[in-house]
Amino acid sequence: MLKIMLKEGREKSIIRRHPWIFSGAVYKIFGEPISGETVEVLSSEGEFLARAAFNLNSKIIGRIWTWEENEQVDALLFDTRVKKAISTRRRLSHLLHSDAMRLVHGESDDLPGLILDQYGDTYVTQFLTAGVEYWKEELIDVILNNTEANVLYERSDVDIRQLEGLTSNCGLLYGSASNNKVLIIENDIYFDIDIINGHKTGFYLDQRDNRFLARNISQGLKVLDCFSYTGGFAINAVLGGASSVSLVDSSSWALESARDNFSRNQLSMVNVNIVEQDVFKYLRTLRDSGETYDMIILDPPKFAPTITQVEQAARGYKDINLLALKILRPGGYLMTFSCSGGVSEELFQKIIAGAALDAGVDAVIIKRMHQAIDHPVAINFPEGAYLKGFIIQKRQ
Ligand code: SAH
Repeated sequence: MLKIMLKEGREKSIIRRHPWIFSGAVYKIFGEPISGETVEVLSSEGEFLARAAFNLNSKIIGRIWTWEENEQVDALLFDTRVKKAISTRRRLSHLLHSDAMRLVHGESDDLPGLILDQYGDTYVTQFLTAGVEYWKEELIDVILNNTEANVLYERSDVDIRQLEGLTSNCGLLYGSASNNKVLIIENDIYFDIDIINGHKTGFYLDQRDNRFLARNISQGLKVLDCFSYTGGFAINAVLGGASSVSLVDSSSWALESARDNFSRNQLSMVNVNIVEQDVFKYLRTLRDSGETYDMIILDPPKFAPTITQVEQAARGYKDINLLALKILRPGGYLMTFSCSGGVSEELFQKIIAGAALDAGVDAVIIKRMHQAIDHPVAINFPEGAYLKGFIIQKRQ
């Protein structure tokens, strides 16, 4: 029997149902479990605590599948969990205003490491950890049995797999992808999603509500959408009546897709300005030129995927927020985000406060933002709350 025994005093987080076991908490390994195999987790007294996916390559040596002694880790368990995850989305689908959504959100759906996103009848999955990689065939069957997927595509090309000792893996798992583009409709806007070349599984589904929020405050405003990707915030701003919108991104591919999305929605580009540049540099140029904006969106990529890069990430966030607050017209709005798992909301607020202080700007938070409701956070897994943002108003 494959087992791991914890050190005395290191059982607490597991008893409190946190799903991660760090290698430093393990006293002894019984047997020779291979990467992803299921092990029993025992307290220092030898009592059953949980069953977990084992991975010696990762600092997270175990990811818990179940705390129930009578529950086996097998296709049946995955089927129950995938069903539950999908049915909660279906129940709330009227709140999403989109035919694209996250159906399985890893740990928070009791399926550590598994991501499943739906774009119409096309489904895209990520196997982020050794545990789900080990059970990949079973999980693919379960996904296909519980969806009406025409296409199932794998996008396991994520950095976190390196931490798990896994290499990247992408490709078609089911159906035929004659066309890698899928047309979705989010809050009455068409977006062409490129499931093969796009970021993550193709789109930033987590920002859906915040993009809509941007639409509802942009009337008459001169908007700067930094890290624009394929135009999600920018198109919403134009539809909300912005007087002009500038998109800034360093990826020519993303900006080309943004252009396509504008034309897909039959929107004029007359007051739309597309800038292929590094945002850090571009904000400095704007500051030096004295140009101002009424609304600035900062939605950068993950600066701190894990807790170890937090300091460096904090410097990056402070830098762009400080510049944005300077460029913002008094009375204007800054919509600022962090999707770094290693940066808590509290820390992010402190960073923004520091940026405002250094910029000599008085500001108020008028709204706190988070990931959309199809990205739930298990109550004992605060790490699941990775996306946080504020709408800051610069005082006159
Ligand atoms: N707001 C978008 C998602 C942003 S994703 C949406 O709602 O869809 C982050 C984007 O930042 C990516 O498009 C990436 O190409 C871009 N990016 C990353 N680093 C950058 C940099 N230093 N300067 C400009 N763009 C950058």
